[in-house]
Amino acid sequence: MDVVNIHNMPQKTGWIEVICGCMYSGKTEELIRRLRRAQIAKQNVIIFKPKIDNRYSSNQIVSHSEQSLPSIVVDSPLEILALVKDAQVIGIDEAQFFSKEIIEVCEQLADQGKRVLVAGLDQDYRGRPFEPIPQLLAIAEYITKTLAICVVCGNPADRTQRTTEQHELVVVGARGVYEARCRKCFVPPSEE
Ligand code: ADP
Ligand code: ZN
Repeated sequence: MDVVNIHNMPQKTGWIEVICGCMYSGKTEELIRRLRRAQIAKQNVIIFKPKIDNRYSSNQIVSHSEQSLPSIVVDSPLEILALVKDAQVIGIDEAQFFSKEIIEVCEQLADQGKRVLVAGLDQDYRGRPFEPIPQLLAIAEYITKTLAICVVCGNPADRTQRTTEQHELVVVGARGVYEARCRKCFVPPSEE
């Protein structure tokens, strides 16, 4: 059931793992958990996140539960190719904020024999597929969908409810702007 673990890791090849779900579902926690285990196994790990996400510290990925790991901020996915050098394991957080080139970059890294772990939102605030995550799901060997807890009813939650009347696709992490909701409690935003 668990995706990749120490007992069934592919040998002599790279691959892609995607961790997706709504906000507060534990994507960053799960990414950090896997990356820490790779570090414990003495693998060379490097972590990236897009520039747009400056909610917390700019040189770390940070979960809502305040776990963190050092990371490098990049503007364009293509910068990642030049920075990975001999890293064996590549972590990428908030991948929904990268341009579509991230798909080709992940593919190239996996083709080079690297383990690529990508975390990101699979739905936007309207409940629609959030590119480029759906395309990454299609090319990944391993997929994990994390669920949060619906703040209204306590059911497993897969949607991100925006609690303000803003209509831009990206309104980054200001406190209180988003909450996790289940299918039943999610209210799609009104069309302008
Ligand atoms: P994501 O990266 O998916 O936004 P994080 O890994 O940053 O999620 O944070 C997950 C943590 O958020 C949980 O372990 C929990 O401590 C906290 N949390 C806050 N609200 C919720 C919620 N509604 N459902 C689940 N976890 C929540
Ligand atoms: Zn609910």
